[in-house]
Amino acid sequence: MKMNSLFKIIFIYLFFYSQFSIAQCGLFEISLNQKVNESNFIIEGEVIHQQCYKSSRANKIFTLNTIKVNSILKGNLPSQIYIVTAGGKLNNEMEYSAALLSLQVGQIGMFFLNKEGYETVLNINEVYMVYASAQGFYAYNLAEQLLSDVFNQYANTGNAFYTLLAQEYNLSFQKIYAAVVWGNSNIYNRLTVINNFSPTAINAGNGEQLIINGFGFGTSRGNSRVLFKNSDNGGLTEISAFNPQYISWSDSKIVVAVPQKAGSGKIAVEIGGARTQSSNSLQVKYAIINTGSDTAALVFPARHVAKNSNKGYVWNMNVNFDSDSTVRSNFLVSFKKWRCKTYVNWTIGNTTQINSSERDTFSVITFDEHNLLPAGVLGLCYSYYSGCTENDWYIEEQDMLIRKSDKWHFGNDAIPSNKLDFQSVVLHELGHAHQLSHVINVSDLMHYSISTGVQKRTIEAANLEGAQWMINKSLESDICDKKRMQLLDSELCNDELFGYYNSIVYPNPFNDLLNIDLYLTRNDKLKVSLFDVTGKLTLQYENASASKGFFSLVFDVPNHAISAGIYILKIEIGEEKSVKKLIKL
Ligand SMILES: [Zn+2]
Repeated sequence: MKMNSLFKIIFIYLFFYSQFSIAQCGLFEISLNQKVNESNFIIEGEVIHQQCYKSSRANKIFTLNTIKVNSILKGNLPSQIYIVTAGGKLNNEMEYSAALLSLQVGQIGMFFLNKEGYETVLNINEVYMVYASAQGFYAYNLAEQLLSDVFNQYANTGNAFYTLLAQEYNLSFQKIYAAVVWGNSNIYNRLTVINNFSPTAINAGNGEQLIINGFGFGTSRGNSRVLFKNSDNGGLTEISAFNPQYISWSDSKIVVAVPQKAGSGKIAVEIGGARTQSSNSLQVKYAIINTGSDTAALVFPARHVAKNSNKGYVWNMNVNFDSDSTVRSNFLVSFKKWRCKTYVNWTIGNTTQINSSERDTFSVITFDEHNLLPAGVLGLCYSYYSGCTENDWYIEEQDMLIRKSDKWHFGNDAIPSNKLDFQSVVLHELGHAHQLSHVINVSDLMHYSISTGVQKRTIEAANLEGAQWMINKSLESDICDKKRMQLLDSELCNDELFGYYNSIVYPNPFNDLLNIDLYLTRNDKLKVSLFDVTGKLTLQYENASASKGFFSLVFDVPNHAISAGIYILKIEIGEEKSVKKLIKL
């Protein structure tokens, strides 16, 4: 390995350690005790501003959150600091992971922090990262005197949480710049009534609109909001639709597009800080990723496009991930499950030395080899998007990082109660790669968390419906300067053998050229034969010692004078063989 590339990898790792905040998906719980001990700074604060920037270390976007510090419980900090979170939107590039800690302006809470030591951020000092990512932030619900991370909710009634911190962890306020105000007896608005809403079962993030009927909503929206249960923490907190998603607002009727992070549960209308909750629960069946904000667009999904020569996306396994046959075969079980349900055009390409995530044109599947993902994070899928207008975005590439852990369970035996199911987590992450966001339903594949001893290896009807909605949208038209994705050759799903996988034969029907791509999982004899319907051999390729890896073959048809009609393609690797039907125009 060249010296400079080695350095690059090391730098990216350090950088990840410091920056990546994430993943409810493959998340194991970090105790409050550990958060207190492992963070050098604990503060209460409010997000007052956000700015996105490109990293100085890797081709990645981050968000710099300006924090007004209210109080300090540990460490010594000024009254204004900056916290870095991964992802964001900058010009025509955008990045997102469904499980990332993303903060919103106006959020108040408790942050467990460490100094950001590796990244030069816009020449600003006092830059911090959140320990254990999403688990290192407790969002405050001041009115109802509650605070929540992704796993737990605490009451602070009568300062109960502060008392807990003082008694159990010897933490108390060292400095108060401006105390937060808990409790407000006027939080429930008795002048506003939600009579009903329709439909009662809906999907999130795909533009579907909810109609809320009642009275006392006010004649115009102003700062009023509709609140939904937050699917990124199972509904422990609430989220609002973004400004562009409010379609209409009158005193008796609100029409709002359901935002991506809305999960099943009661909805609320908040007017001047006072809220009215629905008596019935909204059911959200599936959710589609469409990151956005109050001022910056994407409030509609990006598209799958024809990114690579296969007219879809090529994923590259890191060499070490690939060389562990248990890991690889378990990964491929989940990979094939999705592919052969949705026919998303994903193939496995060459292995790669890359073992990190950045915008580099490679969709990498890799272990976090230096064990530097944030505490509690077992895996994540990161999507990189490009756009050409405010509303037209497509998926550029995606990376999957998985922690090396002895918690994983592989294979088909019953899962032990202390293990986490590898295939289930991969299936969940590939759901994110399909652009599915979380839902609130503990048994659903796309629920934000999975427990040890649990297997979720089935793509259920709602998951499939969401993924197919996304794919159908992608097939409608070309976007920006990209052609629309072409579906995977469905015959591929009939013949995936042990000796090779991801055979792609295209186009079919064919005319002048016939392309055959496949990935050999071992060194062996390879034979590719084309027969006509009478069984007569018309084309053949033979290699007595083909090498493991990506293999590509092009038959130049006119040179072989093949007549129009039906043909049978036979692929043999060693003693294993498969056939598929092709049509010559
Ligand atoms: Zn997830």
